[in-house]
Amino acid sequence: MTVDLRSDTVTRPTAAMREAMHRAELGDDVFGDDPSVNALQEQIAALLGKEAALFMPSGTQSNLAGIMSHCGRGDEYIVGQGAHCYRYEAGGAAVLGSVQPQPLPNQPDGSLGLADIEAAIKPDDEHFARSRLLALENTIGGRVLPMTYLAEATALARRHGLGTHLDGARLFNAAVALGGDARANAKAIAGHFDSVSVCFSKGLGAPVGSALVGPKELIQRAHRWRKMLGGGMRQAGVLAAAAQHALEHHIDRLADDHALATLLAEGLSGIDALELQRPQTNILFVNVRGGRGAQLLAHLKAQDVLATGLIGLRFVTHLDVDRAGIDRAIAAVRGFFKDH
Ligand SMILES: *Cc1c(COP(=O)(O)O)cnc(C)c1O
Repeated sequence: MTVDLRSDTVTRPTAAMREAMHRAELGDDVFGDDPSVNALQEQIAALLGKEAALFMPSGTQSNLAGIMSHCGRGDEYIVGQGAHCYRYEAGGAAVLGSVQPQPLPNQPDGSLGLADIEAAIKPDDEHFARSRLLALENTIGGRVLPMTYLAEATALARRHGLGTHLDGARLFNAAVALGGDARANAKAIAGHFDSVSVCFSKGLGAPVGSALVGPKELIQRAHRWRKMLGGGMRQAGVLAAAAQHALEHHIDRLADDHALATLLAEGLSGIDALELQRPQTNILFVNVRGGRGAQLLAHLKAQDVLATGLIGLRFVTHLDVDRAGIDRAIAAVRGFFKDH
């Protein structure tokens, strides 16, 4: 069987999740009467301590609708060079929202320097785009931003009249990694931001879907953008039921994914050609010295172990990999370096 470590998006719904989907009561969500979607939206809003939530088909659309609800034409959002909603979403905010990104370098821990943020916020002058929004990401590259940093960065944004958005695609990985009550941690993280986008289709193991949460009136604006972006879905309760099942059963188990990523890192330590750091959550990046990344990747693929990357390889643990799979991945990598 394939050990698929390309992403935590590759998981298949569990039998219990499929059962929940099968049982879901359905309506037409464009008319607002799908009870399963409405229940999910209420649940995720309450869980993250926000007034309202909107079920979205993808994290990309959730971030875009969020940015477009904060910013208008000629506004800008401050964002990391490595952030998903700058680098990996096809420039949607600029193309579809007429919103200019102001990218800043991410520090080694994934944060944006507070002085960099402050320097990037433009004065009210006709030469400049209007600085409107600070967008952060947590986890970012599998790293957890410290709670004190979130407090400082969002306070800085607020002092300058900027809104705040969190791309929390893997918010629950961050919440679990902080230790203690994961739900309380998730709410505390979300509490620093006006709006948060969270993915159900990553480590939480649902087949499709994200949610945007925030103040009622921002979510109302996002609702119109979602319709315009083609994200109005009909009997979406079938998907919302999967997401709700994930919230009930798959949050605390993220700790297992984190433990497996650490196990993988330990299993690969001591190989001279590899450079790696202990993962904080479920993502392990491995730098392969001597330009042999692509060769290693092909070797792994031939052994039914899948990862992504070229120079830096990425291994992501999730619901559908277990200890035996990780042992196989370790053996396959070690085998490569024994023979090469
Ligand atoms: C996956 C991801 C997204 C986008 O989610 P899709 O559902 O794939 O569009 C956004 N942000 C981050 C940090 C992600 O990892």
